[in-house]
This record gives sequence, C-alpha cells and structure tokens, in this order.
Amino acid sequence: MQVIDGKALSKKVQTTIATQVEQLKQEKNIVPGLAVILIGDDPASHAYVKMKAKACEKVGFYSITHSMPDSISQDEIIATIEMMNANPRIDGILVQLPLPSHIDTDKILEVIDPSKDVDGFHAYNVGRLVTNLDAFVACTPLGVMKMFEEYEIDLKGKDVCIVGASNIVGKPMSALLLNAHATVTVTHIHTKDLASHTIRADIVVVGVGVPLLIKADMIKEGAIVIDIGINRMEDGSLVGDVDFANVSPKCAYITPVPGGVGPMTIAMLLSNTVKSAKERI
Ligand code: NAD
Repeated sequence: MQVIDGKALSKKVQTTIATQVEQLKQEKNIVPGLAVILIGDDPASHAYVKMKAKACEKVGFYSITHSMPDSISQDEIIATIEMMNANPRIDGILVQLPLPSHIDTDKILEVIDPSKDVDGFHAYNVGRLVTNLDAFVACTPLGVMKMFEEYEIDLKGKDVCIVGASNIVGKPMSALLLNAHATVTVTHIHTKDLASHTIRADIVVVGVGVPLLIKADMIKEGAIVIDIGINRMEDGSLVGDVDFANVSPKCAYITPVPGGVGPMTIAMLLSNTVKSAKERI
C-alpha cells in the first residue's frame, strides 16, 4: 500500500508555478492576478480564502480579496464581478461558495467571464470539458488527475466508481475520467446498494461529505481509493469520507485526509490562473 502524498505534490506543482510566474514577469511583463470574492462570515470560507491568498503571495501572483457582508445584494455582487471581468490585471475570478441563500449561485457563476473562470464552474467551461476541448477544469477533480499522472496510474479501461455527483466534484471528475478512457460509474445519495458498485471498482473516488462512509468491506483488494471528503469532527480534527485505518491495508494506493486531495485543489487554482495569464494577449 502506498499513501499518495498530496502535500508534497502540491509543493512540487507550486515550485514549478513560481518559476513560470518569474518567466512571465521577465519575458512579458505579466504578473498573474487572482480576484477572490468572499461573501458573509462563514469561518470555513474565510479559512479557505486566507489559504488561497497566502498561496498566491508565495508564487508571486497579484491577488485581491473583495470581502462583502451577508446582506449584500445580488446586483452588487454582479457589479463587482463585471469590474473584475474588465480589469486587465485580473486573470482569474473566484467566487467562494457557498453563497448566502438570497443569492442565485448559478446566476453569479454565469456572470464570470469564461476566460477568467479559474474555478471551471461556468457552463461554457463545463461544456468544453465534457466535449474534451481545452477548458478551465474544476480544481479538485483536476488535482485528482494530477495525482494519477504523478503516480503513473493508468486509467485506460479501468473500472472507476465515483461516489458523489455534485457540479464541482463528482460530475467534472466523471468527465475527466471518461476523457481518459476509464469506464465510469457515478453514484449518489439515491443509488441503491452503493457497496455493490464500489466493490467492483479498480479505482474509487469519493466526494460526499459523510465521515467514514466508505468501509473496508466496500473496497476490493488492490484498489486505488481517492478521498475528496473533508469533514470537521466535534474535537476539531479533520476526517475524510473513507475509513482510512481499515480501508488502507486493502489498497494499492490511497489518499489521506488531511494531506491528500485538499492541497492539490489550491495548486490547481494557481495552475489555472497561470494558464489564463499565459493566454492574456
Ligand atoms: P455536495 O453536498 O454538493 O454533494 C454531495 C454529493 O454526495 C451529492 O451528489 C450527493 O448525492 C452525494 N451523497 C450524499 N450522501 C451520500 C451517501 N450517503 N451515499 C452516496 N452519495 C451521497 O458536496 P460537494 O461540494 O461535492 O463536497 C463533497 C465533499 O468534498 C465535502 O466533504 C467537501 O468538503 C469536500 N470537498 C473537498 C474539496 C477539496 O479540496 N479536497 C473540494 C470540494 C469539496
């Protein structure tokens, strides 16, 4: 069994990005810029945005955070996004989710210029991903693909079971894996007998948000298990969706929580922003 080290891989990716940023500065006088829009005072959202800003600073980006109160109107958010769409110093725009309930998230995401949509949530980029065209791809599933590449895990013809079918995790993950010629099963809350799907899979990718949902008897011997779930327990500790202690002895590869997929998400956000900056002219 090998533990996939997302923390180390994320550092490696960020070192490469810092070099690319230096090159862009010297050769084209371009400093990649990321704008983050943060609404309300959800502590988890604030913590994520802080981590993203710190990572931007480390690789030499220009970054700004627009913090707005919970009471902000939808029109004011749209006006801020439109300002960022027109700002030539900004290559990437990220709206931290979830948004307050009076805001229409789909509407907000559609306002982002698709060429600055570094989160890959705009329908334009989702459509391009599904048709296997160059696109901005959601950072978390993109980070999982980077892990497969780094650990030389061949996907062609593999039976992959995805648990969780959200727009930001499970669905883009399924498109990426299908584009890589895997045979993909997507399961969700209404799936009958989840274990009957996971037990057959060569690779199980889980992004649900239910602590320890995936147990040892749901995984076949020698499988690869990727745990995207992040669940904060009452004692403050973080656990994934997989019962790591009991599942890991059966696996060829497994990701831990923390230190697995989480750090890759930030690395891919930086990578998408550099991609956008390179396409600036
Ligand atoms: P979501 O609530 O939008 O979607 C959850 C999905 O899981 C849905 O498709 C739902 O049908 C399915 N589901 C729920 N309970 C289930 C069950 N018992 N059996 C099978 N399927 C079930 O959540 P999300 O935004 O996709 O996030 C999922 C998890 O991934 C969360 O723990 C979140 O914190 C984590 N996450 C991690 C990262 C990262 O950087 N590592 C990024 C995004 C999300």
